[in-house]
Amino acid sequence: MSPARLLLSCLLFKEAFSLSGSFWHITDLHWDPTYKLTDKPDLVCASSGTRPASNPGKFGDYMCDSPWHLINSSMYAMQKILPDPDFIVWTGDDTPHVPNEDLGEEAVVNIIGNLTHLITEVFPDTKVYSALGNHDYHPKSQLPGAPNSIYDQVAVMWQNWLNPESRETFEKGGYYTEKLLNRAGLRMLVLNTNLYYDQNKVTQNMDDPAGQFSWLDQILTEAANNKEKVYIIGHVPPGFFEKKRNKPWFSQKFNKRYLDLIEKHHSVIMGQFFGHHHTDTFRMFYNTKGSPISAMFLSPGVTPWETTLPGVVHGANNPGIRIFEYDTETLLVKDVVTYYLNLTHANAVMERWEKEYRLTESFRVPDASSASMHQVLERISADPCYLQKYYDFNSVSYDLKDCDSVCRADHVCAAREVDFESYEHCLEKEGAVSVHRGLLLLVSSVIVSLMSVYW
Ligand SMILES: [Zn+2]
Ligand SMILES: [Zn+2]
Repeated sequence: MSPARLLLSCLLFKEAFSLSGSFWHITDLHWDPTYKLTDKPDLVCASSGTRPASNPGKFGDYMCDSPWHLINSSMYAMQKILPDPDFIVWTGDDTPHVPNEDLGEEAVVNIIGNLTHLITEVFPDTKVYSALGNHDYHPKSQLPGAPNSIYDQVAVMWQNWLNPESRETFEKGGYYTEKLLNRAGLRMLVLNTNLYYDQNKVTQNMDDPAGQFSWLDQILTEAANNKEKVYIIGHVPPGFFEKKRNKPWFSQKFNKRYLDLIEKHHSVIMGQFFGHHHTDTFRMFYNTKGSPISAMFLSPGVTPWETTLPGVVHGANNPGIRIFEYDTETLLVKDVVTYYLNLTHANAVMERWEKEYRLTESFRVPDASSASMHQVLERISADPCYLQKYYDFNSVSYDLKDCDSVCRADHVCAAREVDFESYEHCLEKEGAVSVHRGLLLLVSSVIVSLMSVYW
């Protein structure tokens, strides 16, 4: 074979096997150890608070956090669907939504320990990259930017997943970085963005809690120098909640700082994977010229728990788990496949984890790059059919109501604008559009009724 032919066939071989890999992303398991089956709706679970849990079953209730049976079921579904992933991304929130007095440090650490044990039991040989959630601390959301006994205890639990340097930064501030799967040129960054959460009182007056921003800047600069590609994972995301207008998570100054870092280093960042919302959505990052530079995937939670955030309607979801397919050389995200359990069906008939959708098929894009995710957002924004599809997936096929123009503005602006001011401008713009549309609808309905009178 001539050298040219050999080179060509090597290239074709590489293309055909395009070095595709897969990893699981699970988040927001929120185990509620108090969950039990009883005919008294107030006594089913502590996490329902004062709301009655009126449809409890073996797999849970939409008012409650996960019973152990659901968590176990999700883990064994993962094993059945993709038993040998390259790695697992786990982005936190393990404990139930109950008052601090009902938990305490020991209970929080024990819950994290039980979930860690289950994952290790089901995937004994799989590398897990694990981020802390705001519920993985006592008191909840008060994660400090300094060493403490919870970071220490969790570092011991996760010792098989952390190399010595990772353990050092984790004990200091709950974050770490490692070469992804020990491979040259690839890097994983695990952040503790709970330090930026506006509910976190202990970090609010700091400029750079735990020095995480300057560390991140330094690691990303080094990554660029070493020609590495990077994934970033964390729990609380920047930007706004798409189900409640004007609801951000980060404090404004931290939101801005995070955005600046993404803009500065976007060329090495191939994907950001976060949780906390419990919904299925994504966030776009653009440069000053308006070109897409990064996408953040917010994966659905395992807990079906209906949020108690005032003003959110239909705030529950079906339990979801997710596979990302990626290029193992470039870290390009090639596809996103979401699996889910229809909780009502599981309780009434049988347990069935099924594929909900594949991103490239449902939104007709070639991959899940930032350019493609921009295209997805454009489709959702312009085409009511894509908007509705996105909306159904947003609650993991739980809330199938029509997404009207107000709903559209909330979801589109949250996905498009992570920056506080730009988000506000987007709402003003979309609000104007919806008023305009409303007027058009009103005028046309008047014409139709006039016509019906005269015809
Ligand atoms: Zn959560
Ligand atoms: Zn959370």
